[in-house]
Parts: sequence; C-alpha cells; structure tokens
Amino acid sequence: MKIAVIGAGISGLSAAHFLKKGGAAVTVFERHSAPGGTIGTKVVDGYLVEGGPNSTSETNFVIDELLSDLSIGDEKVYADEASKHRFILRNGKLHALPGGPGSFISTKLWTLGGKLRLFAEPFVGRAEYEESIADFVTRRLGSEFLDYAINPFVAGVYAGSPSDLSVRAAFPKLYALEEKYGGLLKGAVLGARERKKRGTRAKASAKLFSLRSGMGVLPATIARELGDAIRYGAEVGSVNSAGAQFTVNFTLNGKSDSYTYDAVVLSAPAFAAAAIVKSWLPELSSELSKIKYPPVAVAVLGYKREQVKIDLRGFGFLVPEVENRKILGTIWSSSIFPARAPEGFVEFTTFVGGSRQPKLASLPNEEIARVAHEENAALMRISGSPAFRAVSKWDRAIPQYNIGHLSILDAVRHVESLHKGFYICCNYKDGISVADCIANGKSTAEKLLA
Ligand SMILES: Cc1cc2nc3c(=O)[nH]c(=O)nc-3n(C[C@H](O)[C@H](O)[C@H](O)COP(=O)(O)OP(=O)(O)OC[C@H]3O[C@@H](n4cnc5c(N)ncnc54)[C@H](O)[C@@H]3O)c2cc1C
Repeated sequence: MKIAVIGAGISGLSAAHFLKKGGAAVTVFERHSAPGGTIGTKVVDGYLVEGGPNSTSETNFVIDELLSDLSIGDEKVYADEASKHRFILRNGKLHALPGGPGSFISTKLWTLGGKLRLFAEPFVGRAEYEESIADFVTRRLGSEFLDYAINPFVAGVYAGSPSDLSVRAAFPKLYALEEKYGGLLKGAVLGARERKKRGTRAKASAKLFSLRSGMGVLPATIARELGDAIRYGAEVGSVNSAGAQFTVNFTLNGKSDSYTYDAVVLSAPAFAAAAIVKSWLPELSSELSKIKYPPVAVAVLGYKREQVKIDLRGFGFLVPEVENRKILGTIWSSSIFPARAPEGFVEFTTFVGGSRQPKLASLPNEEIARVAHEENAALMRISGSPAFRAVSKWDRAIPQYNIGHLSILDAVRHVESLHKGFYICCNYKDGISVADCIANGKSTAEKLLA
C-alpha cells in the first residue's frame, strides 16, 4: 500500500512510523525544512529551550512502544516529585492548590463561601444542551471555582476561553462524570472504585514526563528513521480523489508536481487542511475553517538562583483572568526536569496571549520578554534582569474545541466513512496533548493497515 501523510508534526510522524512498521510504503509531505510542527527544542547558552510543549502525560502505552521502537526509552525523564505542587495567583499572591482535605480547609485560594458552594455539587442536575466549560463549572461548582481554578487551568491547557470551549469536546472526562454518574463528586468516588476493580488508573493521575534532550528528540528521531520518506519543503496545495486513488498536488522548490496514492493521512492543522480539501470536499473545508487557533508567545527566561526570592519547589503557577495580569502563567522548567539551565541558574517558561490577550502575543520579541520578566519579577520577587531570554511565537497555536466542535468532528467522520483510505489525524481531532497525538497516529495507522 502506498500512503501519503501530509504534515510532519508529531501526529503525522507517529502515523507514518506505525504505517512503516506495518509494512506500508509511506511518503511524508512537510512544508517546512524540519520535522516536529509545534514541537521545537533548542539548546542556547546552556539552557534547554522548549518553544512548544515542555512535557506530556503518560496517558497511554503507545508512547513507550514508540520510544522503544526508536531505541530512545532511556531519554524519558519523569517530572520531579515536587512538581505536584502547583500554584494559582489570587490577589497578587501565589497559593498552592490543595492536595488533601486539611489544605483544602486552610487554603486562602478560595473563600469560605466558595468552598461551601462545592458541597452543593452532588445535588445539581444534568445539563440539557451543549454547555461551555464556564457554564458547566458555574452551574456545578459556583463562579469562584470557575474564576480561581478552571479559568487558569483552561489558559494553561488550551490558552483558551472557558466561555467558548465546549465541556463535552474539550474536557470529555469531566463531562462524562456528570453524564455517567450524575455528578463530579459522585463520579470521582464511583469512578475510583471502578478503576480499582479494573486495575486501571485515572488519566489525571498519569505521570508527567519529558525527554532528557528535550521534546524535539521525538520528532527528530522518527524523522531520522523515516529518512528519504520525508519530503521537506513540500507544501501540499490540494488532494483529490478519483475512484479508490488519491492525488496529492504539491509544490517543491517552486515546482508543482502530483503523485497518486492508495491512501492519505491528512495531518496538517485545520486551517491548512481546509485549504487542501477545498476543491474536493468543500463542505468539510468550510467546517474545518471554523476551528480557531489563538496566538501564543512563549518566553523562556533564565536567572541566577539567588535573584529569585521564593521557594521554587513546584511546577509553576497559573494566572486567573480576573487578576488582570499580562501573562497566562509560568512553568518553573528547571524545577521540573534536570539540566534545563546552567549550574546555579534557573529557567522559567512563561506563556503570553491566547484567547485572553491575543494582541500581547504579537508584540515584538523584546517586548514579550520584557512583559514576561516584569510580571514574573512582581509575582516571584525576582531582583535584577534576566541572564537569558528567548522568545518563540505561534500565530496559530492550539486548536480550540469550542461549542460546535463535535459537529465539525461528525463531518470529519462522515467524510472518512465515505472515502475509504482517507483519514484526518491531527491535534484538532482526538486530543491536543503530544501523548494523544501519538496514540491517534497509531490508531490511524491501524485502521489503514486493517
Ligand atoms: C506553545 C505550546 C505549548 C504546548 N504545550 C504542550 C504541553 O506541555 N504538553 C502537551 O502534551 N502538548 C502541548 N502542546 C500541544 C502539542 O504540542 C500539539 O497539540 C502537538 O504537537 C500538535 O501536533 P500535530 O502533529 O497534531 O500538529 P502540528 O504540530 O501543527 O503539525 C502539523 C504539521 O503540518 C505541516 N503542514 C501544514 N500545512 C502543510 C501543507 N500544506 N503541506 C505540508 N505540510 C503542512 C506543518 O508545517 C506542521 O509540521 C503545546 C502547544 C503549543 C503551541
């Protein structure tokens, strides 16, 4: 079987890897000159700089299979135990997220009224329409929990807006607790009992890991293994189908060309995929073009340890929108993983922009670094200037699983069922995490090989 994979991000590369492993002849088309898509690691002046994902959660077994196939299992490094301490900003101060009943009672992150409101949760009924995560949380847990737990969490995962994201599409596990058990508290208790019986673990308790040399090792190693099967600088303009075959039209070094394949895996982002299928599947194209990707800028800053006056044992902090700051949050990268900064220095990764403040993400790089430094300095009692700064920008960063996303996915599945051999495998389909993209790459390959 001759298969074209369009896009060498982690979704397309994983699909290509498992297709090749299953014996298919794969060609990967990538418009850029390097693999990885959103994953980008650089080492600069002794700092390991992640411009995209810093880590991912061990939510499936496919990750280990992939690492073992690539002989890079020993690259895997788990997050430091202390990184279970996560902080949220309230009234300009960082508060640890409670880890048990004692710290829940004593925390000043939520008021007494906000905490008492949580006890009403088991008595709240089900929703009757597709809700946003904001409506869902306000209804079940109250507005304070939305402002000081879910709003910053959503900024940390999707860089998105809780009032736009669909709870069913973006947080299916949370939604399922209400659907299946009638409530979050009930669901958490009964779900834990069921998992204990089955001997499985909750996704939320999956361990966080990265790779010693950075996340970029993953796409780079898959790409090395695929070798000449990847065509860099090859921008696909369109895909068409006649009978059981698919024609891929692309431009390479300014020259247009086209090849025919038995199957196509479309692993380009939704806005690019919409353009690629426009002439062949106009209805799908118009659905895909509805998916929004807000911009995000990532500022990586380094300081001498003694410049920072707070205890850095933890994962970092997230900023609720109501706090009116100019950053979404900061990861204490060098506290989580080893060798992220030179000896005696610390590294922070700060996220700016998203749906909340898209304009900030398009400021010049020096401005973004300045904003990130000033906000961190105020919140983490940092003296002096950063010893290191690097900024990465994503004009269209993360697909938003907004209200209506499920009907877009219905349209995708409908087209896949009509055109045997055509699959979409990208982060707007079955989860945005790197771990989800890897698992989806494998399941797409399995469907094709079957
Ligand atoms: C700033 C940031 C931080 C993140 N942090 C985390 C994190 O900590 N943990 C986590 O698990 N996830 C994180 N994510 C999400 C995760 O990185 C992405 O969801 C995932 O990497 C997407 O992979 P993908 O292959 O689906 O898409 P992409 O990475 O977007 O890859 C698509 C590829 O298609 C190519 N392409 C596009 N158009 C064409 C065309 N016409 N012809 C040929 N090729 C084309 C692109 O060049 C690209 O290489 C983060 C994302 C961002 C932006």
